[in-house]
Amino acid sequence: MRNRIHVIGAGVGGLTIGSLLAKNGHPVEIFEKMGKVGGRTASTTFKNHILDNGFHIMPFYKKSAIFEILKKLNIEANLNLAKVDNIAFYSDSGFHKYPKGISDLLQLTLIPFSSRVKLLRILLPMAFTSMKKTEEWDNLSLTEITKKLDVNTNAFFEAVCMLAFADTADHISLGEFARTMIRANPFKGGTSEFAYPSDGGYDAISRILQGFVEDNRGKIHLNSQIKRIIIKDSKVEGIITQDGTFHHSKCVVISLPAYQAINNLFEDDVFDQEFIKKVNCLDKTTAVVEVHFALNRKIDSKQIVFPVGDFTTKGFFFISNITPSVCPPWEHLMIAGTPVLPEEAENQKKIKQIVENMKNELSSIYPDFEKSLLWERPMAWKLVESVVKEPGMVWKSKMPHQISHVEGLFFVGDSTISYGIGTDSAAHSSILCHPKIEKFLQNSS
Ligand SMILES: Cc1cc2nc3c(=O)[nH]c(=O)nc-3n(C[C@H](O)[C@H](O)[C@H](O)COP(=O)(O)OP(=O)(O)OC[C@H]3O[C@@H](n4cnc5c(N)ncnc54)[C@H](O)[C@@H]3O)c2cc1C
Repeated sequence: MRNRIHVIGAGVGGLTIGSLLAKNGHPVEIFEKMGKVGGRTASTTFKNHILDNGFHIMPFYKKSAIFEILKKLNIEANLNLAKVDNIAFYSDSGFHKYPKGISDLLQLTLIPFSSRVKLLRILLPMAFTSMKKTEEWDNLSLTEITKKLDVNTNAFFEAVCMLAFADTADHISLGEFARTMIRANPFKGGTSEFAYPSDGGYDAISRILQGFVEDNRGKIHLNSQIKRIIIKDSKVEGIITQDGTFHHSKCVVISLPAYQAINNLFEDDVFDQEFIKKVNCLDKTTAVVEVHFALNRKIDSKQIVFPVGDFTTKGFFFISNITPSVCPPWEHLMIAGTPVLPEEAENQKKIKQIVENMKNELSSIYPDFEKSLLWERPMAWKLVESVVKEPGMVWKSKMPHQISHVEGLFFVGDSTISYGIGTDSAAHSSILCHPKIEKFLQNSS
């Protein structure tokens, strides 16, 4: 009889690890506290629109860790992806094409020619370096290199960081940025393309994985919150759900942010204070205000536009141009977003003010914006990614997948050891953790 594996959380991290284990014939049970799968990528419907949690696109298109897992599971054909390749920057001097390669970069009208050459001198060697080498830069900030550049080129970097990391350059580790450059480099097998599920709703990825788990004798319990993980004699003994039911288990995988789990799901004596302190340092999240605007017509055919310079809005895009299936044919969906301080994400007055500024900016770029506007839906998110790509807190400095003194306990998700962006890092953590769980199961059977 094979050991039953209990996974906590049905976001991209929990579902990818659950699927990989189910594929190898292990009995998997996933507990999700919400009424649907997807975690932070869960989508909702609102006034006949499919709305994601703000801005959600898949980095690295078919070279993403998510796609790699779907291929391992032989179900990549189930995910229909629309390419997101009509991206532009907007500055006071107008729209500029987003550079996807060397020739685009040399033609980037946003910055002077001499700056483009300087930029290439920085980015090219970075894109051809080794992954191992990037680890030497993990404690440095990206601003180590951008501070040497002129104002316009710096502003360009800020916009690229918003697109890739939903954060500002000073919060991004140079090592993590370099890994992104390597993965975007087509000459090293990468791609700088982005994707979005063409039927609408980023949670399509999670729903496909949910189907896979269930088709492979796995169970997913929705509305099932885990309140305790029981550890005895340094081994996992089981989990307790909110209603008090005990489930015996030798193997538990936690997929929610590690600092939340460590502080809430265990008795006080499981981890020492030093360890808890270290894990709590990872609690540095990006917060954003994002607004869905429904318009009565298309006011731009570009898919994404990123403002460069002194704008409140740091990123906005037109998702109905990526796939019209997210909204009724007579409407057009636009999303505007900007990073904020976590306390601002809870301040209604501040959010209102940000939204007003965004609308003024959109009206100055698109004179028809205000008169085309049907409704708006502002949302504030305190937890975007579990770990900001901050210097010193990336890649192997994140939460380990396994803890030496607790047998049978594993961690996946974007707060755990992995590289990549958002959902890609959550999936990457599962790729890295999977062999560790298999080894444990083999040794304990
Ligand atoms: C507004 C916003 C925009 C973003 N944009 C992008 C983007 O464009 N591209 C991108 O790649 N990423 C983006 N991200 C980040 C991305 O959503 C996350 O990195 C990713 O979804 C994390 O997946 P995860 O499985 O690690 O965690 P989660 O999705 O948080 O999954 C954890 C799950 O555990 C459940 N859970 C928690 N506690 C318990 C418990 N006690 N018992 C049972 N279940 C529990 C939660 O409900 C949740 O479903 C964005 C996030 C936000 C919020």
